[in-house]
Amino acid sequence: MSESLVLVLNCGSSSLKFAIIDSSSGDQVLQGLAERLFSNEAQLIVKIDGEKTVYKINQADHAVAINKLVAVIRGIEGLSARISAVGHRVVHGGEFFRASTLITDQVIDTLRQVEHLAPLHNPANLLGILAARDAFPTLPHTAVFDTAFHQSMPAKAYIYPLPYELYIHHGVRRYGFHGTSYRYISTQAAQMLGKPEADTALVIAHLGNGASVAAVEGGKGLDTSMGMTPNEGVVHGTRCGSIDPSIHEYLCQRLDIGIEEVHDILWKQSGLLGLSGISNDCRTIEEAAAKEHSRSQLALEVYSYRLAKEIASLVVPLGRLDALVFTGGIGENSSLIRAEVLQQLRFLGIELDSAANEHCIRGNSGLISRAGSTAALVIPTNEELMIAQDAAAFIA
Ligand code: ADP
Repeated sequence: MSESLVLVLNCGSSSLKFAIIDSSSGDQVLQGLAERLFSNEAQLIVKIDGEKTVYKINQADHAVAINKLVAVIRGIEGLSARISAVGHRVVHGGEFFRASTLITDQVIDTLRQVEHLAPLHNPANLLGILAARDAFPTLPHTAVFDTAFHQSMPAKAYIYPLPYELYIHHGVRRYGFHGTSYRYISTQAAQMLGKPEADTALVIAHLGNGASVAAVEGGKGLDTSMGMTPNEGVVHGTRCGSIDPSIHEYLCQRLDIGIEEVHDILWKQSGLLGLSGISNDCRTIEEAAAKEHSRSQLALEVYSYRLAKEIASLVVPLGRLDALVFTGGIGENSSLIRAEVLQQLRFLGIELDSAANEHCIRGNSGLISRAGSTAALVIPTNEELMIAQDAAAFIA
């Protein structure tokens, strides 16, 4: 297979993750991160063959970080000329994008129209796109959306029981996220199950700092736990997931605070962090729980219980289940959470293979259920490779 290098860019609100990936082999030539943008601690970290170089980029914004990255790339002999496409992760595509798309001026205008749906992420995504187009004007640039995969959801799954006009005039509906990961995992799961993807019925749990679950049939999203924003659904690292919407008003009145502060509580001080009181990091909480820290034990119980309930509910749109798949940092590494969840889902016919469950950590993929029972799988996700492959598909 001939080499096809793609620069993959993922602009967060104050960070930029990047990689140069061979979309044919999946090999990463270079990878890294620009973090703490807009601050005096802003820095660009570039890793090549495991060797890390750190560049100080005081007060840099996304454009400055990208320009520094481009300078680093140009400083590596012959590398820049080998890059044949740029792939951009874009969080929200609204209802406009059902698939990855080549970025044109018209696409940029459309992205501006959906900026209000993801005010923290989409403006940063757009800044990255504009800076990278300036730096690589002759290369094709592709936008790969977190939401696109879920555009196949039927109306009954994406409409909230609110006044319908709020959907029509203000876009208030469920969109779903982590779509790039679901697309990758669905294909991989079909291979592991030895079935054509078109015949598969999967529930996939992507459990990272943000966590979601999706029902995927024949490679298409039928329903998912995240909604209008990436807060709905299961418990996250610092976000609360689904709660009674009237809690907002109650907190405003009871604590005499404004909606922004309530938002801060529900997005940054809740989830595993709020429950445990010590960390949003699942590893830290597992360690504390093992030492009888009761709030950490409660955090793991709430997390697993709510997750099991969400998984069970997402079997409804499928009507059957070929496999439950775990992915994301927690899904790929926490044998404890997986065991707790599967224990509560035995009625689905999944029988845990404890030895296999302990084996599937740190990048090991495989079946963690007993032969003959409904399958449970662990599959490490690879969103960067998906973005690289989508971008490579647009090389003329
Ligand atoms: P992001 O959503 O930021 O991409 P990740 O997919 O990297 O996040 O997942 C981060 C989560 O994975 C953290 O909660 C971290 O504690 C958890 N995690 C990573 N390794 C382990 C492990 N060995 N055991 C339990 N949780 C783990």
